[in-house]
Amino acid sequence: MINRRRFLLSSTGLLLLQTPQSLLSAAASGPVFSLGVASGCPRENRVILWTRLAPDPLHGGGMLPDETQVRVRVCRDEMMRDTLIDANITVTAEEGHSVHYPAEQLAPGRDYWYQFYHGEEASPVGRTRTAPAGNDDVPVRMAFASCQHLETGHFAAFRDMAEQRPDLIVHLGDYIYEYGPGGADRVRQHQGPETRTLWDYRNRYAQYRLDPHLQAAHAAAPWLMVPDDHEVDNNWAGYTPEDPEEQTDLEFRVRRWAALQAYYEHMPVERPPQLAGLDSELRLYDSYRFGRQLRILLMDTRQYRDDQVCSQAFPSAPHCDARLNPRLNKLGRAQEQFFQPLLSETEARWNVLAQQTWFTSFRYPGNEYNMDQWDGYAAQRQRIKTKLAAPGFSNPVVLSGDWHCGAAMNVPLDDANPESTPVAVELATTSISSNCPWSAAVARALPGNPQLQYWTDNRRGYVLCEFNRDRMQADYRLVDSPTDPGSAVFLDRRLEVIAGRRGFAG
Ligand code: FE
Ligand code: CA
Repeated sequence: MINRRRFLLSSTGLLLLQTPQSLLSAAASGPVFSLGVASGCPRENRVILWTRLAPDPLHGGGMLPDETQVRVRVCRDEMMRDTLIDANITVTAEEGHSVHYPAEQLAPGRDYWYQFYHGEEASPVGRTRTAPAGNDDVPVRMAFASCQHLETGHFAAFRDMAEQRPDLIVHLGDYIYEYGPGGADRVRQHQGPETRTLWDYRNRYAQYRLDPHLQAAHAAAPWLMVPDDHEVDNNWAGYTPEDPEEQTDLEFRVRRWAALQAYYEHMPVERPPQLAGLDSELRLYDSYRFGRQLRILLMDTRQYRDDQVCSQAFPSAPHCDARLNPRLNKLGRAQEQFFQPLLSETEARWNVLAQQTWFTSFRYPGNEYNMDQWDGYAAQRQRIKTKLAAPGFSNPVVLSGDWHCGAAMNVPLDDANPESTPVAVELATTSISSNCPWSAAVARALPGNPQLQYWTDNRRGYVLCEFNRDRMQADYRLVDSPTDPGSAVFLDRRLEVIAGRRGFAG
């Protein structure tokens, strides 16, 4: 009722004159910057700045349906005195009152600070950083993470990541989980049912974004990000849901659009989703360059993939010939063609393929594989590995998440011969907070997988990498106690790759 009344008042345009500025467009009375700030998609001269006005974050956001204005300032100093940009932005209900402001004409390879204002309220100050210029040969520090089920752990890993102040944070998906509330044994509980509508997804992102450690990680550095399955529905593929018998094709298409729209509204990404009839696309895959040192090929293996083949037994299923079908595509044709020339381009020293699921073949006892990972799309993986193996292609590093147990693996050219000369290394991060109840099955498979150099077992954490002229080092940082938001986070293992060599050193 209150919402409706204030909307009617505002549409007369008269009584607003007596209303304080801060109440002009908020139907609820909480702080409008409850979800914090973020930045993303860093380029040499440009970065996207994000916030979303949400005085009532768990109930649709709490703004009136009117347009409203947000002011943004970008400064060269942390005290916010040396102003470079001061602009007003119109935000709309159609985009959940989110802001995606492209801050442009920035200098390469340096820090900036930004803050938003609405009425009398000011947001927290965020720190961001542009990519180094093309010829700049400076080290790059990058953290990456995945899988943050809010019910099964706190986000101490994000607190530690923010304290490290990396140049860049990469998120490989499972940023939210779609499930309804779990049992009373969880450290905290999802609000609302399994997410299906735009309203549900907005509230779920808001619940995650209220976490102070996640907010700190967003405010500490620019992010690159891509969703995996749980941002929509467990193990979905293209236009196929997890349970086709529980929802019609039409229902899933509407659900997929709602999920992508809510993802856009909560992330500092460059473009909104596009609708063509009932087909939706949120274009995220792209190439990002960080000076001479590093190029990141950000891949999306969910939106365009063919459905999984063979059995869906978990965590592994018996080999079947369908998984070797050369027509099976995990990227979709357009994306594969986009990356084709980039997998032969050699200007950056380190070439990172950032994507969601385990890339290296991993065989479970009895010739079994996980069909949701790249073992279910083995012919396309072989095409990519052949490109990576070219002598002129320098220092490929594959990143992955999804599996909740982390690992570091040499990537052999021949799947059948895991000890053959590697063409690349893979860094698979463990989860921020999601459990890995299948860790015992992975442990039993270890003797048959000598390409695996290290694994985290059932521990939470993330990976912090440094790329420089001589080497890449990857620190696996693990959380002492996932049930404690103040938990210590420690270095479990440092792995190194020497520039110009394939495979891990030592
Ligand atoms: Fe996950
Ligand atoms: Ca996943």
